Amino acid sequence: MNEEANPASTNGQDAHPEWLTDMVRVLNDPGYERWRSMVAATGGCSHPVHLAGESHVIDAATGEVLHSYRTADEPSGHLLVACGNRRASVCPACSEVYRADTYQLIRAGLSGGKGVPEQVSEHPRVFATLTAPSFGPVHTVRERNGKTLHCRPRKNAGTCPHGKPVGCPEVHDTGDQLLGQPICPECYDYPGAVLWQAHAGLLWHRFTLGLRREMAKLAGISRTSFTQQVRLSFAKVAEYQRRGLVHFHTVIRLDGPEGPADRPPVWATTDLLSEAIPLAVRAVHISTPDSAIGTRLLGWGDQLDVRPILLSRDLDGLSEEAVAGYIAKYATKGAEASGTVDHRLSCGTCGGRGRPSGRGLLVTCARCKGTGLKPGLDLEALPVTDHARRMIRTCWDLGARPEFAGLRLRPWAHMLGFRGHFSSKSRRYSTRLLDLRQARTDHRAKEARERHGLPDPGEETTLVLAHWRFAGSGHTPGEAVLAEQLRQRIELARKIAAQRTAE
Ligand SMILES: [Zn+2]
Ligand SMILES: [Zn+2]
Ligand SMILES: [Zn+2]
Ligand SMILES: [Zn+2]
Repeated sequence: MNEEANPASTNGQDAHPEWLTDMVRVLNDPGYERWRSMVAATGGCSHPVHLAGESHVIDAATGEVLHSYRTADEPSGHLLVACGNRRASVCPACSEVYRADTYQLIRAGLSGGKGVPEQVSEHPRVFATLTAPSFGPVHTVRERNGKTLHCRPRKNAGTCPHGKPVGCPEVHDTGDQLLGQPICPECYDYPGAVLWQAHAGLLWHRFTLGLRREMAKLAGISRTSFTQQVRLSFAKVAEYQRRGLVHFHTVIRLDGPEGPADRPPVWATTDLLSEAIPLAVRAVHISTPDSAIGTRLLGWGDQLDVRPILLSRDLDGLSEEAVAGYIAKYATKGAEASGTVDHRLSCGTCGGRGRPSGRGLLVTCARCKGTGLKPGLDLEALPVTDHARRMIRTCWDLGARPEFAGLRLRPWAHMLGFRGHFSSKSRRYSTRLLDLRQARTDHRAKEARERHGLPDPGEETTLVLAHWRFAGSGHTPGEAVLAEQLRQRIELARKIAAQRTAE
């Protein structure tokens, strides 16, 4: 929702804030009912795409037009389609759909269903969290036995070379803006942090290779023999920590070579998997390219959490339901927790290089005048935390060095260097998000066909001819308020329905 659309942000003395005047206009518009039903069909999407065009259903044998739909016949002249954004901070309605789909997908890989055999729940599997190492002390909330402790108690430890105290005696509360920010930004290893983040995807890949190697070693067999008998399946999601670095939360499951329907050999147990994970985590090291800033040896952080996933709730393990819930929730988060912005900062023409590609080193990009920045942007004026700004600035500076060109640090500066997928899974983990979406689209199309008395396309007697073009996106300030009300009503109805089924 944009600034003007938020009632809370409008000035109380103003008798007619823009959103209110606009809302009255929308409510009195003769096309209101149709607009409302279109918004309801998007689930109350906050940034719907406006399409213009037409679609015709044609009898393949006779050429007869069975049904036509033209947006020109709509009161607004447009059709609204949900934006489909994954992130809750961008679109609560669409992210809820994404969350529910991700939950189904993860759950299917643990309990079966959606085409995955139920016996998969007997396969060894764990929930593991892999973390980033420390690049310098940051303000944190530490807890022991339910008690919040001092941030970083260091009695008489003195100051760092920059004159800052080495410790922090505060007890921070969870809303403190300082959390995740370095105790001394000058001491903090920003190049190390950014380079780690830019290699996080590769570190993960190396970990999965190392895990197979460590398991084979523990089982006393060769790598080849291991891969002939066991298939590893993963589902993972990246979660930004306050310090701006990602953690990977992951489900790791052992299958037989054919995948979820195939039982792994008896020696491939949860214990073996749990024992191999820390070994594989410690074995992964990647050196950064040779550079004037030196080379860094990158690896995972010491904090590692590995827990078996159980059929039901237990003290030492996690239930299938809880794991699917965690991963689905993380999947709808972006980098916002780390205090950064949610859009690219680099010039779209030159991709942040400041030079058009293939035109020589001395030619500067006409759009950004060689800065590599999106025109009109100033890194110093971005509405981000000081720490995020330093991470972004480091991405920008390192991104200019040829040895780091492959990391594409400038186009991914807003993600603080991370360019991997937020959520991903190996091919045989379970069903695909795409299949879940297709099933929903098919279901809606069937409903629409039945409403219009059209035959099933499965009989292959009809053709659909459609032509659409993009005609804009988003809501006006008044529409935004009404769409949000509608979304909340839909969400409430869904919660009530879910409660009834649970009872
Ligand atoms: Zn949306
Ligand atoms: Zn502190
Ligand atoms: Zn310092
Ligand atoms: Zn440019």
